[in-house]
Parts: sequence; structure tokens; C-alpha cells
Amino acid sequence: MGIFKKSLQRVCVLGATGSIGDSTFKVLDLHPERYQVYAISGHQRLSKLVELCVRYQPAVVVVPDAKATDMQQLLRKAGLARLPEILEGEAGLCAIASHADVDVVMAAIVGAAGLAPTMAAAQAGKRILLANKESLVMSGELLMQAVRAWGATLLPVDSEHNAIFQCLPEVGRTQVSHDSGVARILLTASGGPFRTWTLEQLEGATPAQACRHPNWDMGQKISVDSATLMNKGLELIEACHLFGLPESKITVVVHPESIIHSMVQYVDGSTLAQLGRPDMCTPIANALAWPERIEAGVQPLDLFAVQSLHFEQPDTDRFPCLQLARVAMQQGGTAPAVLNAANEVAVEAFLAGQLGFMQIAQLVESVLTQLPMSRVTDLATILAVDQQARHVAKRWLRGMV
Ligand code: NAD
Ligand code: MG
Repeated sequence: MGIFKKSLQRVCVLGATGSIGDSTFKVLDLHPERYQVYAISGHQRLSKLVELCVRYQPAVVVVPDAKATDMQQLLRKAGLARLPEILEGEAGLCAIASHADVDVVMAAIVGAAGLAPTMAAAQAGKRILLANKESLVMSGELLMQAVRAWGATLLPVDSEHNAIFQCLPEVGRTQVSHDSGVARILLTASGGPFRTWTLEQLEGATPAQACRHPNWDMGQKISVDSATLMNKGLELIEACHLFGLPESKITVVVHPESIIHSMVQYVDGSTLAQLGRPDMCTPIANALAWPERIEAGVQPLDLFAVQSLHFEQPDTDRFPCLQLARVAMQQGGTAPAVLNAANEVAVEAFLAGQLGFMQIAQLVESVLTQLPMSRVTDLATILAVDQQARHVAKRWLRGMV
């Protein structure tokens, strides 16, 4: 109490109804004296958003465009005594991400839809907990520039990047330089549910099989990305931007147990790793409280039960998406935004049963070849390229179905 009492941090959870949203609330529930839920957003499942409103009584809630009236009725029906302010669409998301009363923004929207609110949070100098890797992939340079220019704090929630963040020296966390002694980053990958499948088996892989990840329980899009290894490709690009490293300094290591969440190798021969159970509550708690440590509700690792850890090279013949992402990063400019947009269209088509598993990479490669890379000057360029890539991807789909 008294002067030692910490002030309550007001949290905005973008993408509150998703898998990262669930884990975020688990951690917040453990620390009511530190955090208050100030604003939340959801897109598909309004009923879940209503439950969250009843439970956390946020001041503001954001729903998709033209859904405010539905939401108001649902909240009234749920018997909420005091209704939150209800905002709609992208403007609403940007408003809560940059709201003067918000201290911390959990960026947990999936896909390109997360870019505008994450950028808004950066421009408002917020503490951003970044799960939405697609925003960095699309617009890494601009987002990192905004973070620096507006004094925001960007903390990685993606388990690998959070692990790397924990293993880097403080001076090298945003820009790894010669002085920091970092030689290389080892980005670990579980290999996904199809790690041991043959090419023939992969041709027939179904959405249900792709979404059954062996170690992690996640949203559908990232589950498919994990199955194609595009997730690791997106994470490679994410790591380059977060830590200011060229892609040549990042090695992907397949580690099926998902116990080591990534490693940093130093010039003196040391390799530092962060280990833990595959539970997103750990990186979320780490990012929420950094530089302090708080309980995450996660059991400590039992190494006697784990016994052994395994490592393999990734196979880019069976999982070409990883290589496509590396090439897009080498090209730079708008190429990663094109890769991301084409992949979002491909994953949606795969989940809808319109595209085979191995065709995801074919579609992405075709769009990357059709749209030559150009320089990124501003956010408008990125958004235009994103739309163009989606258009080309959909044309490709129409040509084949
Ligand atoms: P999810 O599908 O479970 O949840 C996505 C959230 O975004 C939901 O609240 C949904 O309503 C909202 N949303 C979807 N489309 C939207 C749109 N057009 N506009 C506004 N909101 C929209 O996804 P998730 O697994 O929680 O992943 C969220 C992000 O975190 C992704 O970028 C993912 O790559 C990243 N991530 C997830 C995990 C994980 O374990 N789930 C781990 C690392 C990183
Ligand atoms: Mg990850």
C-alpha cells in the first residue's frame, strides 16, 4: 500500500474472443490488483463478446461495422446494468487502441485486419503486446519506425519472439549490433501436425487434420499456417523486424516437443535458450509485466518427464512456404505484404474446401511472381498492395475451381 502500491494498468484487448484473447484473460484474472480490462473487441462471435462484457464490464466494446445495434440488444438481454460505449469497425478498433485511458494494448486480431489498430497504438505511444504477427510482416519497417518515433514499447507475445527477447541482452533487444555479440538466432518450429507426412499424404490433407496441432491449441488460421510452415516463415520476417537482423542470421530448427521456444547464439560459443511448457500464458504474462515477472498460472517444466529433446532441419520440399517467406524477406519492399495477403486468401480457400493443402504454396508463389516487389513509402502503399495481392489470388482461385 501507500507509495509502493502499483497503479492499475488499463488494458485494451483487440481480438478478445480468440485463442490469444482466452489466454490473456486467464493471466489478467490472476492479477486483478494490477490490471483492469478497459476495452475489448471481437469480430465473429458476438455472444462471446457479450459474455466478456458481463464478466469484465469494459468501458468500451468494438464490434464489426453495422453491428452496434445488435450488440446493444444482446447486452440489454444479458441484463448488464451499465452498457459500455459501443464502437464499430476499424475506426472503433483504432479508437480503443489509441484511447487516452488505455495503458496496455494486446494486439491479438488475426491477419491484416490487425495492422491499422496496431499502428494506431504505436502512434499513441502505447505499451503493445504483439501477437498479431501479420502486421509486422506487412509493414515491419513502418511499424518499427512508428514505435521509435512515438515512444511506444513493442513486446513480442509470439512464443518464439518472446523467448528470443528474453535471451537477448538488454541493449540488443530492438537492434542487434556487433557490440551485443549476437551471432545468430535459432527460431524453433514444432514442425506442425504433418511433420512426418509424405508429399503424397500432404496432397490429401484436410482442414480438420491441419487444425489438429500436436502441441498448441490455436485459432484456425495460425493452425493452418503451422501445418504449412508459413507460420515459421511469417515469424522469420517478424524476427528480422523486431530485432533488426537480416534473414541470413536466422536459422529455423524443427524441435517437435515445443519445449525450447527459441535460442540466441553468441560469438563466444554460448547458446541461450528459453524453455517452458507450450502455453501462451507464459509469454503473455512476460510481456504484460516486463521487466518484472508475474505468475502465469503455468506449471513449471518437469525435465524428468520431458527426458529428451529432438532437433531436425526443416524440409522445404514438403513445406515450400517457409522458403517463399525467406525469399520475400530477401526481396524486401512490398514482397512480404504480398506474401501475407496471398497466404490469407489461400488459407481461407483451404479451410472452405476450395484448395488442396499443397496448393496453398502454389497460390502464394504465383501471386509473388505476378506482383513484382516495389518500395514501401507509406501505409497507403502497403494497403493498396494488400488489396491487389488479394485480387490476384482470387483470380488464380477462380481460374482453377
Ligand atoms: P483466433 O482466430 O482465435 O482469434 C482472432 C481474433 O481476431 C478474434 O477475436 C476475432 O474475432 C478477431 N478478428 C478476426 N477477424 C477480424 C477482423 N477482420 N477484424 C477485427 N477482428 C477480427 O486467432 P488467435 O489464434 O487468437 O491468433 C491471433 C493472433 O495471434 C494471430 O495473428 C496469430 O498469428 C497470433 N498468435 C497466436 C498464437 C496462438 O497460440 N493462438 C500464438 C502466437 C501468435
Ligand atoms: Mg509462434
